[in-house]
Amino acid sequence: IAFFICLTAVCAITCLMHLYQSALIITGVIILPAIIYFFFHEQAVFNAISVNIIMVVGAMLLIMYRYFKDFTNLIENQQKLEQQSQELQSLNEENIKLANIDSLTGLPNRRCFFAKVEEMLKQRQQSKDPFVIGVLDLDGFKQVNDLFGHPAGDKLLADTSKRLSQLFDENVFLARLGGDEFGIIIEQPGEEKEVINIGNKICAALKNPYKLREGAAQIAGTIGFANFPQAGQTAQILFERADYALCYSKQNAKGTVTMFSSEHETIIREVSFIAHLLRESNLDQELSVVYQPVINTQTGQVISFEALARWKNSVLGTVSPNVFIRSAEQNGMISQLTHILLQKTLKTVSQWPKDTQVSFNLSIFDLCSHESTLKLMSIINGSGLSPKRITFEITETAIMQDYDRALQGLHLLRNLGCKIALDDFGTGFSCLSYLHRLPIDRVKIDRSFIEDIEQNQATKNIIHAMAQLCNNLELECVVEGVENQQQLNILDKMDLHIIQGFYFSKPLQQDAALEYLEKSNQSNISQIA
Ligand code: C2E
Ligand code: CA
Ligand code: CA
Repeated sequence: IAFFICLTAVCAITCLMHLYQSALIITGVIILPAIIYFFFHEQAVFNAISVNIIMVVGAMLLIMYRYFKDFTNLIENQQKLEQQSQELQSLNEENIKLANIDSLTGLPNRRCFFAKVEEMLKQRQQSKDPFVIGVLDLDGFKQVNDLFGHPAGDKLLADTSKRLSQLFDENVFLARLGGDEFGIIIEQPGEEKEVINIGNKICAALKNPYKLREGAAQIAGTIGFANFPQAGQTAQILFERADYALCYSKQNAKGTVTMFSSEHETIIREVSFIAHLLRESNLDQELSVVYQPVINTQTGQVISFEALARWKNSVLGTVSPNVFIRSAEQNGMISQLTHILLQKTLKTVSQWPKDTQVSFNLSIFDLCSHESTLKLMSIINGSGLSPKRITFEITETAIMQDYDRALQGLHLLRNLGCKIALDDFGTGFSCLSYLHRLPIDRVKIDRSFIEDIEQNQATKNIIHAMAQLCNNLELECVVEGVENQQQLNILDKMDLHIIQGFYFSKPLQQDAALEYLEKSNQSNISQIA
C-alpha cells in the first residue's frame, strides 16, 4: 500500500511537471490495485485505491487549473499581440506615407517620384508603351524667399501645389522633388503637342499672382520633358534629359516648355566631346586672352580692357568661349581655366602703362567656395599688379545660382581692392531688387538691349530706366555691343558715355590692344572709330 501511495505521489508530481505520459502511469496506479483488489478483496488495497483516486483527482484538478490559467494567459497575450501588431501596422503605414509624402505641400516626394518612374519602367519594359517625365522649376521663387522670408516661400510652394493638383486627373502624376523643383509623370502622353499643352497649362496656372501675407508675388514656371523610350530607358537618364530640356528652356526662353529631342542629344554629345578635349589638351598652351577696349566717349580715352578667353584646340580649331566656358563649368574644370586665364591676363596687363585697367570674367564656380576665391586672391597678389586695376565681371544669373556664397566671394575680392561689375545686366529675372544689395561698382547693360535700340521705343525706355537706376545708386554704367554711330548717338542723348562694342573695336591680341591704347591716348576717339 505504501508502495502504491508512493508511486501515486511520484505520478502526481510528474503530472504537475507537465509530463503527459504520467496520465498513463496514473491510470496504471489506479487500475493495477483495482485488479489486485478484484482478485484478493483486500481492504487495504481498496483503501489504497481510494487514496490514489483522491490524489490523482486532486493532481488532475490542479493540472486543469494550471492549464486553464495558462490558457487564459495565452488568450490575453494573443489579444495584446494582435493589438500591438495592428498598432505597428498603422505606424508602419504612417511611416511609409510620411517617407513618400512631402510634408510642406502634401504632394508625393522625390523618393516616391523615382519609385513611380521605376515601377512604370518595369511595367513597360516589354511593351515599350510611351510615358513622359517632366521637371518643373519655378522662376523667381528664390527672390520671393529672399525678399519676403521663408514662411512666404513655403506658402507659395503650398499654393503652387494646390494649383497644380487641381489641373489634372490621375493621368498626370505630380511630385515635389525639393526646393522649387517639381516632378511630372504623364502616364498616357498621346502626341507631343498634347504633352506641350499640359506643360503650357502648368505654366499658365503659375503666372497668376500669388496673394501672400507679405504682399503679392509673381513667379513663372519653366518645364523640361523627356519621353520614354526615345529619350532614355532608365529613370536616371530620363530624368537627366528632362533636366537638360529644362536648362535649355531656361537659357533660351524662361517660362516655356521644352521637350528633349534628338537635336539636344547631338548637343550633349558635342559638349561631352568638348569636355573630353578640355581634359586632354595642354590648356596652358592652347588658351589665350584677347582684349576689347571700353571707351569713354566724352574724353575719347580707353578706360579699360575686357579680357576675353580664346581656345584654339588642335582637333576642333577655334572654339567659342560661350561653348567651352559652359562645358568647363559642367565638367568641373572651370577653376583650372580661370586660373590659367587670370595669370596670363595679369602678366600682360602688368606690362602695360600703370593706369591701364582690366576687367576679367568670372564664373559662379570661381566664387562658390572660400578656397577658390582665396586662389584668385593669391594669383592677384603673385602678379604684382595692384588689385585696384582689376575689375571682376560676373553675371546676375550666375550670382543668383548661389547668392549667399557669391556675395561672400565678391566681398573678399572687393576688400582686396578689386572692383566688381555686374555683367549682362537686364537679362536675369531679378535685376532691380537685388542691385542695391550687391557689392558692385559697375553695371554692364547687355548687348541684347542695344540691338534694337533704333527701332524699339520700349527698349530705349528700359535702357533709360537702367541708366537712371545706376545713376541713383552711383554705379558706373557701361553699354555693351554698340556696333554703329546711330546707336552711339541715341546712347549719347541718354547721357551714356562708357561704351564697349565692335563700333570701336573687336577684341584684340595683346600687342594690338597696346597699340590701340597708345593711339587712343594720342588722338581723338572719332578718329579711332
Ligand atoms: P561677355 O562677358 O558678355 O563678353 C562680351 C562678348 O560680347 C564677347 O564675346 C565680345 O566679343 C562680344 N561683343 C563685344 N562687342 C560686341 C558687339 O558690338 N557686337 C557683338 N555681336 N558682340 C560683341 P566673346 O568673346 O565671344 O565672349 C562670350 C562670352 O564668353 C562672354 O560674354 C563671357 O560670358 C564668356 N567669357 C569670355 N571669356 C571668359 C573668361 O575668361 N571667363 C569666363 N568665365 N567667361 C568668359
Ligand atoms: Ca563680360
Ligand atoms: Ca556682357
